[in-house]
Amino acid sequence: MRCPFCHNADSRVIDSREADEGATTRRRRSCPKCGRRFTTVEEAVLAVVKRSGVSEPFNRSKVVAGVRRACQGRPVDEDQLQKLAQQVEDAIRATGAAEVPSNEVGLAILKPLRELDEVAYLRFASVYRSFTSVADFEKEIAELRARQAQAPEPTGSVPSGAPAGG
Ligand SMILES: [Zn+2]
Repeated sequence: MRCPFCHNADSRVIDSREADEGATTRRRRSCPKCGRRFTTVEEAVLAVVKRSGVSEPFNRSKVVAGVRRACQGRPVDEDQLQKLAQQVEDAIRATGAAEVPSNEVGLAILKPLRELDEVAYLRFASVYRSFTSVADFEKEIAELRARQAQAPEPTGSVPSGAPAGG
């Protein structure tokens, strides 16, 4: 790494630590020529390619902003939004791709949002999937109902007579 002060081509790492739960590595460096110190941050690249072809770094706060709009008036708090954005980032990074189209970010939002709040999910899906009619909503709601019917009851795994816990 080039020294930002004297532009010496080499520098020495004097300290290295993980930040942001291991997503980034911060390195404290020292320039052997001018002796000044500086910090670098290393992060695995994840770019989002917009429909226009322009790419920009993946930004968790953009995910939060988009989902927050869909969650207006719903019982969803900031922590849940942050957690959802983290799930989205994890899901995208898990694909191993360095670049993803922006519509894949939208797709990655739908699944955890459905778990979080079904009304917000319908709102988000209606925009993202460009619902054009009531029939589109009906179809989506039918799928949500089918999913609920399949899902086991929250207490279903507790044998009858067993303590409820807590
Ligand atoms: Zn230097």
